[in-house]
Amino acid sequence: MKVLVTGGAGYIGSHTTVELIGAGHEVVIVDNLVNADMTCVEGACRICGADIPFEQADCCDAGAMDALFEKYRFDAVIHFAALKAVGESVSKPLEYYRNNLDSLMTVLETMRRHGTPNIVFSSSCTVYGQADRLPVTEQTPRREGSSPYGKSKQMCENILSDTIAAYGDLTAIALRYFNPIGAHPSALIGELPRGTPNNLLPFITQTAAGIREQLSIFGDDYDTPDGTNLRDYIDVVDLAQAHVAALERMFGGRSSEPFEVFNVGTGRAVSVLELVRRFEIVNGVKLNYRIVGRRAGDIVAVWADTARANRELGWTAQRSLDDTLASAWRWEKAVRGM
Ligand code: UDP
Repeated sequence: MKVLVTGGAGYIGSHTTVELIGAGHEVVIVDNLVNADMTCVEGACRICGADIPFEQADCCDAGAMDALFEKYRFDAVIHFAALKAVGESVSKPLEYYRNNLDSLMTVLETMRRHGTPNIVFSSSCTVYGQADRLPVTEQTPRREGSSPYGKSKQMCENILSDTIAAYGDLTAIALRYFNPIGAHPSALIGELPRGTPNNLLPFITQTAAGIREQLSIFGDDYDTPDGTNLRDYIDVVDLAQAHVAALERMFGGRSSEPFEVFNVGTGRAVSVLELVRRFEIVNGVKLNYRIVGRRAGDIVAVWADTARANRELGWTAQRSLDDTLASAWRWEKAVRGM
């Protein structure tokens, strides 16, 4: 099938492109390159031994989207293109709402005009906020998002759900990602944060590489076994494969409802300190870290109940945390020429 991957030059988009091509699909990437460069597109081409069509355009540009859909006639869209820095979204709410909502709406309108029936949407476990009961299932009530980024993901889920209910010509699956980490085993594609990383793993790998002096661990006085936050860290290749499974469910007409939501995690809770220690052991490096105060907006703990994805998508996270941490370090070293 022919699939448009929006935001395909980015971290998850490039890994998903590789898995789609590996599964026999044709991919076209569209990306405006505001938060990515061509490194991962080139890496994906090398991994696949293919010239993956790339179009530089903004998904909010209806004219550009129309031209793209006219040119390629897609069977499906995987919509990654979005702004994603939680902290930045607090200081730039209008940019986040404008970009994340407009790009989805423009893509949906273009799909309807061109008769493209299927879309997979990048959602996030951030839609749950701090849940009362863990792990979270897809039925766990969503809590008011704690940042414009989180709220934009909730609003996008609502836009999808309302659009699909109203028109009957679209099928959608929203995947709620937990914490994606790691890189492709080839070390040809991976996460490339611009400036100081916000997320834990790139901060760890950059500290190990000597680019950051010290890792700050945000709080060790939470009500958790070692006092640090608990998250569900999922290998980016596993996450990418969940997108292939979601698409094939829609292509095979196996969706039980026109709009479905799945948690995509491992079901395993790992603390910040555990992750740091595992990284040191697996990669044989010492990390300079210190405990600092809590980071505003952090939730204490969240991890996934993945039963629905396991059962309905026939997908389970396969990679071990150790392999994932090794892949992250291999990628950082490749980027730095170490
Ligand atoms: N974290 C940390 N130091 C950092 C970055 C993150 O201690 O430099 C912690 C953060 O408090 C959270 C976990 O690592 O408990 C994951 O944070 P990240 O920003 O990667 O993802 P989040 O789950 O917050 O979206």
